[in-house]
Amino acid sequence: MSNLHQHDVLVLGSGAAGLALALRLDPSISVAVIAKREISEGSTLYAQGGISAVLDRQDTTESHVRDTLHAGGGLCDPKVVRRVVERGPAAIGWLLDQGVHFTRDANAVDAGGYHLTREGGHTHRRVIHAADATGREVETTLEAQARARPNIALYEHHIAVDLITAHKLGHTEQRCLGAYVLNRGSGRVETFRAPCVLLATGGANKVYLYTSNPDVATGDGIAMAWRAGCRIANMEFMQFHPTCLYHPKAKSFLVTEALRGEGARLLLPDGTRFMPQFDSRAELAPRDIVARAIDHEMKRLGAECLYLDISHRPPEFVREHFPNIHARCLEFGIDITREPIPVVPAAHYTCGGVLVDARARTDIPGLYASGEVAYTGLHGANRMASNSLLECLVYSELAAQDIAGALDRPVTDIEVPPWDESRVAQPDEEVVVAHNWEELRRFMWDYVGIVRTNKRLQRAKRRVDLLRQEIREYYGHFRVSNDLLELRNLVDVADLIIQCALRRRESRGLHYTLDFPHKDPTQRSPTILIPDAYVPRPRQ
Ligand SMILES: Cc1cc2nc3c(=O)[nH]c(=O)nc-3n(C[C@H](O)[C@H](O)[C@H](O)COP(=O)(O)OP(=O)(O)OC[C@H]3O[C@@H](n4cnc5c(N)ncnc54)[C@H](O)[C@@H]3O)c2cc1C
Repeated sequence: MSNLHQHDVLVLGSGAAGLALALRLDPSISVAVIAKREISEGSTLYAQGGISAVLDRQDTTESHVRDTLHAGGGLCDPKVVRRVVERGPAAIGWLLDQGVHFTRDANAVDAGGYHLTREGGHTHRRVIHAADATGREVETTLEAQARARPNIALYEHHIAVDLITAHKLGHTEQRCLGAYVLNRGSGRVETFRAPCVLLATGGANKVYLYTSNPDVATGDGIAMAWRAGCRIANMEFMQFHPTCLYHPKAKSFLVTEALRGEGARLLLPDGTRFMPQFDSRAELAPRDIVARAIDHEMKRLGAECLYLDISHRPPEFVREHFPNIHARCLEFGIDITREPIPVVPAAHYTCGGVLVDARARTDIPGLYASGEVAYTGLHGANRMASNSLLECLVYSELAAQDIAGALDRPVTDIEVPPWDESRVAQPDEEVVVAHNWEELRRFMWDYVGIVRTNKRLQRAKRRVDLLRQEIREYYGHFRVSNDLLELRNLVDVADLIIQCALRRRESRGLHYTLDFPHKDPTQRSPTILIPDAYVPRPRQ
């Protein structure tokens, strides 16, 4: 098999953002979609709640815009919010055309007969869903459509190593030419060339010890874009979900807020209830307040987890209302009708990312970004529930429109050398990678998590600098592997989060620091980091 692949469009990532772009392109365009693991594996598959869009006659665009701006704590770009919200109903229509089945409501007089739920921050019912597994329905439907399209080649178990740019190859012009990709099956690095490349690699939440995200969420796209010369914005805004099941074998299982809505109480290890001391709404306070309170108590006590208890409600009630959580916890030997659930907060969503414009274009001509990897300006300082899948769909459509025009322009003939492995050896100490993975995720959790201070951030910065040096050395000497690539990316992303957090000298939205505990009305711009390799885009 050849080491060189040539396509019109290269899509890195096969979640909602990647597949939506591939399917939006004309069937005459040859597309390669690359996924680190199976095509379906990614955050999209695990999305539960649904997708927000103005579908009910009582609801309005103005209202969805207002709610999003409110949630974003003064940092959303109002033009972007309107752009996304206005395209919401058409994006849902497109999903229906692809064959996605949303939950119906026999009593619904409008919204096309679909059931709409209401989630935190939304003042109307506007979340369309497929029971409590919306992401699975969207992902598997789009995957089936992509598999049926002869112009789309799907490469599973392939991990992008780095973007190839003209600038990196010594040219003065800046342009994305493709990517080097490790074929995890053969262990060889292959060259994928394409005049248009989309980053759709998802978020970076695996940088923290506890996360609701699947293993693929290691911020690869953000790190690759940064190294290639793209500006990165707002990485200080990482969203944490307050309650994830704490069990060595229960990776990333969210315990829904609905449990607190039905009276569940948060307890310290000695059984004391603590939320009333933090907020008059106690367990029903907003997500970020609950997450901060749990974090505070865990750090104060040095506790590994706290507890969420609903066992005071009748067992039939608990089983009937929370069959999924009841069954899942039982698998781990926890009967929630009789005992409290061990919980920790978990990194859930990356609000910042690769800066893109209104056409999903990054700073590098030929390179686009969509989905959780991108910073569009929609979420500001805090993401409103169910706005993220919508953003994937809308920005991939915008990218598809731009790519259709871009492909008409002449293709660059810059020669791309194959990946050079002549000077590297087989890795001799995998333990270095495993150890550093663990160390990074733990100190990010302890020092750059839900509650920050300058001292903690500085401490984390010193450790990241050391790790980076070590990994750079290791990377230069040994053959690349999946774990090494992810670790290298995680360290870069950790550094970007710390840099952004150090720059924001206030508390706003998801960024909370004890050194500046209040919002500063003068700090209303996004935090933008400019890499050494940045070349301003020529005006068009
Ligand atoms: C538990 C959970 C519940 C959620 N619930 C909701 C919800 O109800 N509503 C909502 O709007 N949002 C929800 N979200 C957020 C939403 O699911 C994500 O933001 C969205 O799915 C991201 O889609 P994406 O296409 O950007 O990335 P993903 O779906 O994460 O896909 C990333 C893709 O990139 C690939 N990839 C990554 N790195 C590389 C690399 N180096 N090389 C090759 N491929 C790579 C992966 O293999 C994968 O295919 C939830 C998230 C989680 C984790």
